[in-house]
Amino acid sequence: MSADLHLVHLYPDLLRTYGDRGNIVALQKRAEWRGFAVEITSVSRGDAVPTDASLILIGGGSDRVQEIIGPDILARGPELANAASHGVVVLGVCGGYQLLGHEYVAADGTAIQGLGLLDVTTGTGRGRIIGRVNARAQIDGRTFDLVGFENHGGRTRLGSGATTLAVVPKGQGNNGVDRTEGAVQGSFFGTYLHGPVLPANPELADALLERALAKRLDGEPLKPLDDSLEEAAHRESRHRRR
Ligand code: GLN
Repeated sequence: MSADLHLVHLYPDLLRTYGDRGNIVALQKRAEWRGFAVEITSVSRGDAVPTDASLILIGGGSDRVQEIIGPDILARGPELANAASHGVVVLGVCGGYQLLGHEYVAADGTAIQGLGLLDVTTGTGRGRIIGRVNARAQIDGRTFDLVGFENHGGRTRLGSGATTLAVVPKGQGNNGVDRTEGAVQGSFFGTYLHGPVLPANPELADALLERALAKRLDGEPLKPLDDSLEEAAHRESRHRRR
């Protein structure tokens, strides 16, 4: 029997900035604590993406690593688009977010082509955007606080096909100018937030889980968990921003 939730981690060997793998662990635990059976598959260059994936995570990395992954991830475009059209959630963090977009032109002028599955384009600006972020996110009618740490040279702009994941009244987010952070388009999610982002943002983790487990939940909401530790981590991160 296949698992209730199949988490697929793309390029865990290369895209793994600031413990992005913690996102997989957070999703795994939050599903298991509610009694769901979870399977995790790591997919590196040349490996096949399992056909029964529920959620695919693409972490962050350096410009050089993004260049290395480029040809492999581009070949996966149709497969990822097809999976997302069947409700598979795809989360890209930082470098992974940029790769889901149309293009990333790095500071040295190197253009790294993206998948174009998220209507966002990334260029650069002066210096890197580094620091803690306190944001306010909106997904599927829920609004909640989002905290994390960002470190990127890229400046991302949303096209009309994507909506912003969060607003950053004080932080820098996508580009340091328009006070947006991340993007959402159908089943595709992008964020600049590391930390990793999901352990300290249980509401974001559950919003993604509810989508990834939609068939199993059959319209029922996820059972609440005791999130006191997660909430303490969240508060600590918010506090450090100040
Ligand atoms: N290389 C990208 C940038 O600097 C992404 C960095 C990251 O994933 N942290 O913009």
